[in-house]
Amino acid sequence: TIAPLRKPTWIRAKSQGTPEVARLKDVLRTAKLHTVCEEASCPNLGECFGKGTATFMIMGDICTRRCPFCDVAHGRPNPLDADEPRHLAETIRDMGLRYVVITSVDRDDLPDGGAGHFAACIAESRKLSPTLTIEVLVPDFRGRMDPALTIFKDNPPDVFNHNLETIPRLYKQARPGSDYEWSLDLLERFKTLHPDVPTKSGLMLGLGESLEEIEAVMRDLRAHGVDMLTLGQYLQPSKNHLPVDRYVTPEEFDHLRVIGEQMGFSHVASGPMVRSSYHADLQAENVLHY
Ligand code: SF4
Ligand code: SF4
Repeated sequence: TIAPLRKPTWIRAKSQGTPEVARLKDVLRTAKLHTVCEEASCPNLGECFGKGTATFMIMGDICTRRCPFCDVAHGRPNPLDADEPRHLAETIRDMGLRYVVITSVDRDDLPDGGAGHFAACIAESRKLSPTLTIEVLVPDFRGRMDPALTIFKDNPPDVFNHNLETIPRLYKQARPGSDYEWSLDLLERFKTLHPDVPTKSGLMLGLGESLEEIEAVMRDLRAHGVDMLTLGQYLQPSKNHLPVDRYVTPEEFDHLRVIGEQMGFSHVASGPMVRSSYHADLQAENVLHY
């Protein structure tokens, strides 16, 4: 067996947490809601919760797909909880959040891929927190793009995020069941329907791609009207997941940010610890002008 790569110094350890973070975690336990922040043991948790940002995972924690880089359980998901939109809205209000990212596992088992549930979560959360900014980070609704886009028509989010995750050459290996062109198409068609809502996408680096391949994906995203970009380092959740091929240096991340800005992205977050939702509020600030 090959020994895993040693983590470089720029990969930070987990944050320790403050009394305020403990209080917010209590609110979450009472509401029985899942956050990616906690489940992925995200190193940015203290900072994000402290600033009123969190990423919620709706529609359960069992995914119908099996991406070998991802730590989410897979199998047959539980039925949808019709009360979840209301519980989510109450929790967001009780946590005093100002920017939320709502995301989900992939629900290939549902006729609309879960779009209706997303829309209900947006509507309920807006009702209880009128000044809240809502970003959705959606699955690809494979085979169900038309109903999904129709459902979002009446309840569009403030930011529409869908991650490509990696370069097309690595899709077969890293994203079985997903399709690069389909994902680009989803981003483009949402933008056509909602020209005023910023679209966003992201990649994990360090899975074996070259810098040229990353730049080609960035060009594809711009060609499909995508406004915002996140680039972060892939970290292996356990030894049973895809290994890290290499650690991209902070200088390379900086270089990609500059190139992205030159390509016309309105915001590029690029760095080893960047996650799709990291500083999502700041990423959106100069795009949404709120
Ligand atoms: Fe949560 Fe995203 Fe912040 Fe991590 S970066 S703590 S997942 S909001
Ligand atoms: Fe994880 Fe998303 Fe892949 Fe499901 S579709 S296994 S949640 S990355």
